Amino acid sequence: MMTSPHVTIIGAGIVGMTAAYFLARTGVSVRLIDRHETPGQGVTDRSFGWINYITRDPAKDPAAHHYCHAAFDRYHALNRDFDGRLFSPATGSLLWTEDARQTLDLVHRHQQHGAAPRALNRAEFAKLAPFVVNPPECTAYCAHDFALHPRKVMALYHQALKKLGTEMMFGHSVEGIVVRNNRAAALVIDGTELATDRVIVASATGSIPLLAPFGDQHGIISSPAILITIEAEIPGFHGILCGPELEIRQLEKNRFIIAENMPKNPTQTALQDLADQTLASVCRLFHNVTSARILSVQIGERPDSTDGLARVGRVKNIDNLFLAVAHPGFILAPVIAQSLTDQIFERESLYEIPTRSIEI
Ligand SMILES: Cc1cc2nc3c(=O)[nH]c(=O)nc-3n(C[C@H](O)[C@H](O)[C@H](O)COP(=O)(O)OP(=O)(O)OC[C@H]3O[C@@H](n4cnc5c(N)ncnc54)[C@H](O)[C@@H]3O)c2cc1C
Repeated sequence: MMTSPHVTIIGAGIVGMTAAYFLARTGVSVRLIDRHETPGQGVTDRSFGWINYITRDPAKDPAAHHYCHAAFDRYHALNRDFDGRLFSPATGSLLWTEDARQTLDLVHRHQQHGAAPRALNRAEFAKLAPFVVNPPECTAYCAHDFALHPRKVMALYHQALKKLGTEMMFGHSVEGIVVRNNRAAALVIDGTELATDRVIVASATGSIPLLAPFGDQHGIISSPAILITIEAEIPGFHGILCGPELEIRQLEKNRFIIAENMPKNPTQTALQDLADQTLASVCRLFHNVTSARILSVQIGERPDSTDGLARVGRVKNIDNLFLAVAHPGFILAPVIAQSLTDQIFERESLYEIPTRSIEI
């Protein structure tokens, strides 16, 4: 019988924290390391946190659609572990494009792949979302979508990990991974070697410098995006909307977050212009917006890959080194965590994530 492994996870974002929780509750002895003093200070803190599959077109990327779909089951099971405190009941999401035909086709493609978005016409939309000024001709409605509040989720995991006896080393940067005889033998922290058994690199774009000494075949890249936080009164609106002009959701009372693409040249002026345009869009989109002001405009370095596939699993040629780097990390976190737990215990996984042989 396999003895219980000891696992060191580098990175306490949504991916590392979820993996730590899955492993620790299975009885694995876990050590979690992060360069920040508290968990969730990387891109996790700048995330929109929308759990959905509607943004993954099953015709273009059936694998991504499949594992985003699988995440819902895992999240509902997780929420039961946390007595429903991990996320509130589904608010649902409304997604539409400029072209009604395109939106309808997208809904049909999802339906053909067994998913359940519904197409709403203008009148149905207006009934469901009377706070929107111009109801679109056709909208994809996903009633079971929900969103996570990054800081609340991090705090809950942190508390749970403490209870499970996880060793947490915050405020420590991993400077390097020492590989001897095809094994990750130690991590270098503050110039000192810390011996390791199994290692999971869940350091998002921070994985790139960590893996650099071994090669550059991993294909992990940074894909920055912008998160804008505003304060406003938007009567009636509390869900998730993704239209051609805005992707917006409520975070807390009178506080909303908006995800935006990165400007080509992200100067201070470009970011300020983007913030001004976003605020104007909010006022155009909703009825009776008052007291609207920008609270922050932040750049988040999303971890992505050159081929769009996840990097989750054992690294080729280094027996005890695993990667957990994937986009979209919030949606996939419990699927990644389940897959890694199964791999560490060397058992077949129902949650295998399409990845490729991880070479570094
Ligand atoms: C604007 C925006 C909107 C988004 N919207 C969504 C969404 O709606 N749904 C979704 O699923 N995803 C979304 N994402 C993507 C999502 O935020 C990321 O995929 C996810 O947060 C990645 O989590 P992570 O744990 O891998 O990374 P991180 O949160 O960055 O965690 C990595 C951790 O590793 C630590 N670290 C790095 N290097 C080292 C080192 N050498 N030593 C010690 N510690 C180290 C960092 O401090 C960090 O805490 C969005 C991203 C952005 C920017």
